[in-house]
Amino acid sequence: MSADSKVRQKSGAGLYLGMLWAVFLLIGGVSFGAIALFEPFLSDAASGLPLTGYFMVIFVMALLAAGILSSMAGDQTPSRLSRLLQKAVMRMMMPLAFFLGRVLGISKDALWLSFVKSNNQQVLSRRFRLKPEQLLVLLPQCLQGKDCDRRLTNDIGNCQLCGKCDIAALVKLFAEYGLSASVVPGGTLARSLVETRSPKAIIAIACERELSSGIVDTYPIPVISVVNERPNGPCIETRVSINAVDRAIRRSLGLGSRPDVQGCGIEHKDERKQTPGLQWGS
Ligand code: SF4
Repeated sequence: MSADSKVRQKSGAGLYLGMLWAVFLLIGGVSFGAIALFEPFLSDAASGLPLTGYFMVIFVMALLAAGILSSMAGDQTPSRLSRLLQKAVMRMMMPLAFFLGRVLGISKDALWLSFVKSNNQQVLSRRFRLKPEQLLVLLPQCLQGKDCDRRLTNDIGNCQLCGKCDIAALVKLFAEYGLSASVVPGGTLARSLVETRSPKAIIAIACERELSSGIVDTYPIPVISVVNERPNGPCIETRVSINAVDRAIRRSLGLGSRPDVQGCGIEHKDERKQTPGLQWGS
């Protein structure tokens, strides 16, 4: 089993959330410890200063706890405060969680994947009933066959449906739902597309690293992530589970589930066995 597959098997949503709580406890412990350590000096400066310090730490800890809890809950319409706290958790505690993970020897890939799964759990606990034009579908350039010269960035319809990569099946799938999708070579173009289109939700296919930064950058727009498969290594002819993409689309449009679509009638011409797609939301 490849290291990539091992990471995917081991990383549940709990890993990232566990790291957040560990950071929370560390911040609380260090803050209380610092006040206790310097209490004599603080008391000399002003008799009520240590107590004020303890109350301030408790207040900040309560806000952080609320932020983590709201990151775990799937509010249908999160309040402004809840969105603010979740953003603070992503911007401030997430880097600390990754730093702590590095200290503890946990790979970044495992934490990114865990974050993506945690985000999927939260997003998918909401009920969506979007119109196709309210949905933005983003595909990575690396899905395209490496020898294919079709320009897909502006128009995925330029694909000739030769079936040498998963784009062909995706084009058919998107046509079925009346969706337009964009192939984006990098995060900058993805972000500018999000600004231009102002979607109500995003379905993004990418590696866990790109997905994580996209989720943080586009928050509070809900992002449903489908992690690609890398049978040829990172960024080269990656694959995606068409069934996982189909399920993501149907959830976004408020449609019921249906049997697996089996590549939309397009057989992939690569003889290598396709690895099963990541079950989003798991
Ligand atoms: S299916 Fe064929 S034509 Fe379409 S993007 Fe892939 S390799 Fe190119």
